Amino acid sequence: MGLLSTLHKNLVIIVNFIFPPVAPWREVRKMGTPRCHRCGYPFEVPVGIEIQVCVNCQGVSWYLDRAFSCYYFDGEVRTSILEFKYHRKFYWRSLLGKGLIEGFRDEFSDISFDALVPVPLHSSKQRDRGFNPIHAIEV
Ligand SMILES: [Zn+2]
Repeated sequence: MGLLSTLHKNLVIIVNFIFPPVAPWREVRKMGTPRCHRCGYPFEVPVGIEIQVCVNCQGVSWYLDRAFSCYYFDGEVRTSILEFKYHRKFYWRSLLGKGLIEGFRDEFSDISFDALVPVPLHSSKQRDRGFNPIHAIEV
């Protein structure tokens, strides 16, 4: 085994120690339908009745046209998001980025748009965390 091969092998061991590879989520609950066309919250709709928005959004004026979640915030999804945001476990960024892309494609495959704009993080939150999670996501 040559010197470069040995160095590469040791470098991989070190990188995997610092940024352990993560397995894909095993238990993911994707948001299904029906759900509110405004806030994305899933709710039961009686068969034969066409309801577009949930009771929380009816008659409420929002500053956005639409919101959605890719997944339920529980299980491994919840764990990875919380570890990433609050414990600086950046090895989740690739999986979280892939999840966002996949969810976004599923949700908006029939819509044309010009830009995707992340919600800015408040400066006090960024100061508390020491980083902006949206800048750390790997897509
Ligand atoms: Zn709603």
